[in-house]
Amino acid sequence: MKRILIVNCFFDPQRVPVKRKFKIPQPMTPAYLAGIFSAQNCDIRLYDEVYSGPLVDKKLLAFPDMLVLTGLNIAFDRMLHITAHVKTKNPKAVVVAGGAAIRALYHYAQNFFEYCCRGDIEQLGEVVEEVLGREYLSETFVERGWVIPRYDLAYWMKLISYVETSRNCYFKCNYCSLTGEGAGYRVYDLDYVRLQIMKLGRKSLIHFIDNNFATNNKRFAAQRFDMLADLHARGFIKQWGAEVTCDFFFDDENLERSLESGCGGLFCGLESFDNQALNKFRKQQNVIMPQIELIQKCLRADIPFHYGIVFDLAARTVEDLEREFDFILDTPEIPLPSFITLAIPLLKTPFFYECLDKEMFLPNLRLRDLDGSTITLKPRSAISDAVQFLTRIKSLSGYKTRILQHILKFHRLYRNVLSLEKLALAQYGAFLLSAPRLSTLQMNAGNGHWPSRQSLPRAFVGSSDPLDPVYQPLFHIDARYRHYFEPTPFTDDSGSISEALQADLCCPA
Ligand code: SF4
Repeated sequence: MKRILIVNCFFDPQRVPVKRKFKIPQPMTPAYLAGIFSAQNCDIRLYDEVYSGPLVDKKLLAFPDMLVLTGLNIAFDRMLHITAHVKTKNPKAVVVAGGAAIRALYHYAQNFFEYCCRGDIEQLGEVVEEVLGREYLSETFVERGWVIPRYDLAYWMKLISYVETSRNCYFKCNYCSLTGEGAGYRVYDLDYVRLQIMKLGRKSLIHFIDNNFATNNKRFAAQRFDMLADLHARGFIKQWGAEVTCDFFFDDENLERSLESGCGGLFCGLESFDNQALNKFRKQQNVIMPQIELIQKCLRADIPFHYGIVFDLAARTVEDLEREFDFILDTPEIPLPSFITLAIPLLKTPFFYECLDKEMFLPNLRLRDLDGSTITLKPRSAISDAVQFLTRIKSLSGYKTRILQHILKFHRLYRNVLSLEKLALAQYGAFLLSAPRLSTLQMNAGNGHWPSRQSLPRAFVGSSDPLDPVYQPLFHIDARYRHYFEPTPFTDDSGSISEALQADLCCPA
């Protein structure tokens, strides 16, 4: 048996070690990656740093013959930390890194990991065959090219299970990593989707984790609804949810068929109620139908609606963003957003290159600062005003009474429209927004020195915000890997891309 450890790496925006057990969706990439390995010949362990917080289990860090790492852009430094811990315990462990961070920093990453994968998850199969041999691959993967997720190992799937029916997206928003990667949209074979769902057993609550569940393939949409309705009627799906784009709501039939097949909620990337901001994000699909009308249409169809808000402090003034937040709080016809984030110049996206061209990056940023809760771009308003605004939004200081009033008014408006269960689900975003501390669990110190979130002095400005405690190793690290705990420099003291990352970032692909 080969010992395999697969980790989804993550830095929490709060910059302290917390567990996000209530986050929906949870990442499923580790479970899909696990499906590539042979269950007979491999002892596989998964670890999700979103659900479980930073990996500090020393036994687990000493466990693998092969370490597989995945994560978003800013998770790159966490990949380094975990590699240094594992390599110190077992220098022969082979480290394979993939995901958005590695695709964006492919050249730089090769200084640290034995195998850097910039393709889709299936590329792991090539590495496993080369390093371990074909007998360590799962039969279904070898014979049909299908990756059946190892739900049995995905310990974070408590109430809700996750299934994917398509990959990537057919829109090209300027800040989206999929746009930056030029990833082509494709739908899956429905037999493969059905197999994933049947593996979960009966009465499952399923969240479809497609980048965009709304499809532009009408035939596929109809056949997928047929399949969902059938599985719902036969008791395999109790209720499902998904992330869709605004075009999903243009066709009334989509909502009707969603409801009849057991839809219990939809998340839509609204991002803003300001058309100018949406046009700037190249999110033209969001300005075709008035957003409020779209939300009400969904709620009146007895389907809870969820969304997030993106505040672009570099393009809009603090007053303008405050007006938008006031508008949301004063409009009980719509639910509160599930989260508010700053616009993130994700690596290699059109938005990233626009910021680079216009010299908008602050100096001396670290890659870790690109987390959506830290100012990394020169703000349009004075930086002190931007920081004050961000502090207020993060703590909701001065907004709590209005949030409570909004929740009550929303309840009154929809109590006869939505069923009781769905009314509660529709307010889930309000819970996440207004009770961030309840929705995350602070972890105990792994090395005895972790600060609490109350004690961490946040500056909210890149380069001056304190680094996460996990930049301190858990135990003595071999000299060859000590520099893995240095934060990856992102910009230099003039705000240009750091020398280390220039080969990867200074020319658009
Ligand atoms: S609609 Fe969503 S997934 Fe599609 S490109 Fe835009 S941000 Fe990315």
